Amino acid sequence: MSSDRKEEIKNWAVYFLSAMAAVFIHETGHCIPAWLHGYPAVPTPAMEYILHPVTVEQNQWISLGGYIGTVLYIMVVLIIFLFTDFKYNSALYAGAAAVSGMYCALFFINGRGHGGHEFQEAQAALGFSYSGHSLDVFFLTIFTFLTALWFIRTRPGYKIIPKLLTAAIVTFFFFIALEWVNNSIFDPLFKAGAFPRN
Ligand SMILES: [Zn+2]
Repeated sequence: MSSDRKEEIKNWAVYFLSAMAAVFIHETGHCIPAWLHGYPAVPTPAMEYILHPVTVEQNQWISLGGYIGTVLYIMVVLIIFLFTDFKYNSALYAGAAAVSGMYCALFFINGRGHGGHEFQEAQAALGFSYSGHSLDVFFLTIFTFLTALWFIRTRPGYKIIPKLLTAAIVTFFFFIALEWVNNSIFDPLFKAGAFPRN
């Protein structure tokens, strides 16, 4: 295998690992408010299981915790991207940006950036309108900003656009597959004891 090919594979590996890290940190973020109340909760790679009944207000904080996790991960990766010489900087950053891209894709398909009522619950925790679209707007802004910054910093040229569109489609199905595999494994273990959050 040529060394160029090896480097490309390593970049893709970093990209998908970064996207998976972003999702796991999001799920952990959901669990932290539950843990702070002393409730059992289990984060898995693509789903959180809250194993105790929660009040409406606690549920709003549990929802918001996921997005605080997502935003913190994006901020850490942004700092690494801008201020370090890490070899796989660009792939690491793109993996974090992909999560906000997924919310945008779901917004355009479903009219909401997230399944269930998670965006609405998190908006309520922040004091924004429950039925509004503040989190949708927030992630549309974040994704546009991150993508523009990536283009400015890496200057990939216009020829990369078909490759990026392919990557976007692959990423979309990657996230769906990740959730499906995750839930196939962990639902039988935790779902019976978990309380529906929406
Ligand atoms: Zn979530």
